[in-house]
Amino acid sequence: MIITVAKPLDEVLKNIQPYTRIFVVGCGACATKCQTGDEEAVKKMVLALEAAGKTVTGSLVMDTACDMRLAKRDIAKSVPANDAEVIVMLACGAGTQAVGTSVDKPVTPGLNPVFVGTTERIGVYRQFCAVCGDCMLEQTAGVCAVSRCAKGLVNGPCGGVIDGKCEVDSSRDCAWALMYERQKKRGKQVDALTRFIAPRNVHKPKEIIKGKL
Ligand code: SF4
Ligand code: SF4
Repeated sequence: MIITVAKPLDEVLKNIQPYTRIFVVGCGACATKCQTGDEEAVKKMVLALEAAGKTVTGSLVMDTACDMRLAKRDIAKSVPANDAEVIVMLACGAGTQAVGTSVDKPVTPGLNPVFVGTTERIGVYRQFCAVCGDCMLEQTAGVCAVSRCAKGLVNGPCGGVIDGKCEVDSSRDCAWALMYERQKKRGKQVDALTRFIAPRNVHKPKEIIKGKL
């Protein structure tokens, strides 16, 4: 999922400085899992905006903010949303833009999307994919070298690994040491990891239209 963190409130207030009437939108998908765009986060934002002297015309947690069909259904036709001068989005950039295309008013981000990652438990998220466009997990024992190695080394390790920890950040496991341990535990050939991984085609489409690719 897309992991997000809250923007500093001062920054949000600065971005909506010319406006008085605000509508707040959260996202029931990724941002709810991150607790950055759930009912609680939306409530907190509403209270903070009111404390800053703004009028909040309403708020809503959409099922999935990046679904433009829902943006059209839930926001474009919403009376309180239409009554606002600006919409503060507690969603990722895709959600913010999806809502932005469905209304004829400014839509401003309240969150910073930081990575695609996993939920270890609520409050603990780790980057596990950098959306590189050519997945090679089958060659790296299921550990993503691009996102989990500090240097993104596709042919690693770098030689700086110390006791299985990364030389860039000793609190983190070296991704290549993890691969080695995983292969060994599974009784698989560890030398499979020493094979050269050729340059990959990481060209990524900007859009996917079924039947066109
Ligand atoms: S290899 Fe690429 S697509 Fe696969 S998990 Fe890593 S970044 Fe994501
Ligand atoms: S120590 Fe391991 S994780 Fe850290 S940069 Fe080197 S290969 Fe990558």
